[in-house]
Amino acid sequence: MDINTLEYAQKLDSQDQLASYRQEFYLPEQKIYMDGNSLGLLSGRAERTLLELLDSWKTLGIDGWTEGANPWFYMAEQLGERMCTLVGGKESEVIATGSTTTNLHQLVSTFYKPSGKRTKILADELNFPSDIYALQSQIRLKGLDPDEQLVRVKSDDGLTLDEKRIIEAMTDEVALIVLPAVLYRSGQVLNMKALTEAANEKGIPIGFDLCHSIGAIPHELHDWGADFAFWCTYKHLNGGPGSVGGLFIHERHFGKAAGLAGWFGSDKTKQFDMDHKMTAAADAGAYQIGTPHILSLAPLIGSLEMFEELGMERIREKSLALTSYMLECIEGELSDYSFGIGNPIDSTRGGHLLLLHEEAARICQALKAEGVIPDFRAPDGIRLAPVALYNSFEDVWHTVQILKRIMKDETYKQFPNERGVVA
Ligand SMILES: *Cc1c(COP(=O)(O)O)cnc(C)c1O
Repeated sequence: MDINTLEYAQKLDSQDQLASYRQEFYLPEQKIYMDGNSLGLLSGRAERTLLELLDSWKTLGIDGWTEGANPWFYMAEQLGERMCTLVGGKESEVIATGSTTTNLHQLVSTFYKPSGKRTKILADELNFPSDIYALQSQIRLKGLDPDEQLVRVKSDDGLTLDEKRIIEAMTDEVALIVLPAVLYRSGQVLNMKALTEAANEKGIPIGFDLCHSIGAIPHELHDWGADFAFWCTYKHLNGGPGSVGGLFIHERHFGKAAGLAGWFGSDKTKQFDMDHKMTAAADAGAYQIGTPHILSLAPLIGSLEMFEELGMERIREKSLALTSYMLECIEGELSDYSFGIGNPIDSTRGGHLLLLHEEAARICQALKAEGVIPDFRAPDGIRLAPVALYNSFEDVWHTVQILKRIMKDETYKQFPNERGVVA
């Protein structure tokens, strides 16, 4: 059977054991959503737990902190425990708190101790800008010069990183390593295990940004021996815009003083003693700062259920099947239109694909006009994320067919080749 047919896509959907989860989500009407790696969609379960939270505020007032189905005071810890399997941490090693960037600041403040000739932070030149800004400012806070102290490992092709090169850069001048788990543009999955082993051997603390990997691929952070990790929950975890992020800290570091202290990092039995001498929590909870953003935690209570029901192995398996099918359709249908493939084509790809084209900005606009939601990454990238929980093989087929039509009819030429404010 020709794989580039609607019938074939529908056959794949009929064999898909995760297919029923699509009904859990609000899919934008008449659209094909391929942007779950930027903002995951709302599920009925996330909506329900958010509305329940509002109701607890309505009916309980201040007592909502300790009463009701989900007492607010313990929510960050409970959600941390529930996220731990997603990152391969122990329950005590994960906390729901902050955002990606604030958690990075917290962890760098905690782990970056430049001394003697060991003063540098090792990152990479493809890292997400916010992470780089945070690292630069942390270096400045130590009275050092980011141009000298921030080492960014180079990429040969501008898309992917070579782990060997990263390991070579782990010199005795490096005080801290911060790397992405999955690169936000190309979707390359870095070999976190090998990188962590090398860093551990050299005694350099290493942490990972899991923004594009949590909910997309399995992790074994505890067993690998990673020192720390941090992430957001509004991408593959579908927590909603600005939902509370998370962090992992290996238990061997429990007791390490948080760089940025605040009363919600306290031992919960002592917090309300209101003593000026802080008694920090004995686990990952110690790296919280202030009052948790309860309304932005609430959708996760419902959303995480689906990950617990399915487990990451099955989600990853479907995700790989979707992106494999998309790659096959692209190869079969788009070969005349000068697209490049920016993602690794083997299993070191994460949950999204990166198509490269000179006219990417306006091709994205044409896709949107045709009801397909991709995202554009300057200068020439189109990211497409068929998400295991709510996208179908039929979505993938339609996306490639629509893209083919846009290229064949050159309808993208009606749009300026520029990006929007939120690309
Ligand atoms: C999405 C993303 C961020 C966003 O950081 P916020 O603090 O949540 O705004 C940071 N780093 C990476 C790699 C991301 O993909």
